[in-house]
Amino acid sequence: MSLPLLCDLSRQELAEWCQAEVGQPYRAEQIRRWIFGKRANDFEVMTDISALLRKRLAETYALFASEIVSHQRSIDGTEKLLLEFRDGSHVECVLMREGDRRTICISTQVGCGMGCVFCASGMMGFKRNLSTGEILEQLLRMDRLLDPEERITNIVVMGMGEPMANLPNLLKALASLDEKGGMGIGVRRITISTVGLPDKIRELAALGRRYNLAVSLHAPNDALRNTLVPVNERIGIPAILAAADEYFDRTGRRVTYEYVVLRDVNDSAEQAEELGRLLKGRGAHINLIPMNVVSELPFGDPRGERLTTFVEILERHGVATTVRKRKGADIDAACGQLRLRHLQQLETANIP
Ligand code: SAH
Repeated sequence: MSLPLLCDLSRQELAEWCQAEVGQPYRAEQIRRWIFGKRANDFEVMTDISALLRKRLAETYALFASEIVSHQRSIDGTEKLLLEFRDGSHVECVLMREGDRRTICISTQVGCGMGCVFCASGMMGFKRNLSTGEILEQLLRMDRLLDPEERITNIVVMGMGEPMANLPNLLKALASLDEKGGMGIGVRRITISTVGLPDKIRELAALGRRYNLAVSLHAPNDALRNTLVPVNERIGIPAILAAADEYFDRTGRRVTYEYVVLRDVNDSAEQAEELGRLLKGRGAHINLIPMNVVSELPFGDPRGERLTTFVEILERHGVATTVRKRKGADIDAACGQLRLRHLQQLETANIP
């Protein structure tokens, strides 16, 4: 049987374990500093803690639970890992380099249950939630790809899965990073992206931790959104906007709306007008994401001039608009693509 994952423990829980083992709770900080700061890959190197405690750690906990089954590097400095956990589950995580920024994109679930029709992660359905330690492991694995002087500066929770559907494990992981001995990455440098689950958005707002919130809108009206984001049928755009407005009011953090631009589906001038009317005056920011084409899915990326017009119309409504730069275009870097490719290869290999 495999050992439990050390990073499933919060700082406090690790301190309690150290107290029970050797009567020294403060050893937790040292252990965490080795893991999060000094990129240790096993307990043996933790030379400032006793041989006895190191032995007990190795007998009780695993430092990593995954194997790297694929590591891709793009010419633009983007790197992508496909991790395989002990139960054979796969998740993806991405490292993006831009100037001094080192942004990590992490997954929260194996697969996804939201079923957005343009997304590769949804194609295989939902398998399970990741644990706190499995979420943190993506950061640790990525951190170990960096040069000695490089540090992770930002985290976007925009990988596989719906973060709000795994909120307790995600929040425990993110909080742990900012606690003593963690990576020192605070709430302002973390963005959580959601399909838009109003109750969960309110729950997060009530916690008073001021993460950046990104809401995946993708359509200016419910009729279209229902066809692109199936869970919308039982939620509806008005409820999402109300929850997001409340998030802004309570946290003071301006909400970003993500909008995947799908050629000839949601990229017309009329739709831009409707979107502009919907978001103006909300203190919102819109991030247009040109569709990252997935060969199995019938959606194209927007053509240049339509996208330019779309942006101009939104700006005319006074809505701050950015267009997401493509990163890692040469390495299947879109959400879920690498896992999909890997699973397809396994399936093909299994055909007798
Ligand atoms: N479940 C969360 C996180 C998903 S991934 C959410 O819905 O926000 C982060 C963003 O990537 C979402 O806005 C998602 O809709 C978008 N996305 C998914 N597939 C995409 C694709 N093929 N091209 C461009 N963006 C995509």
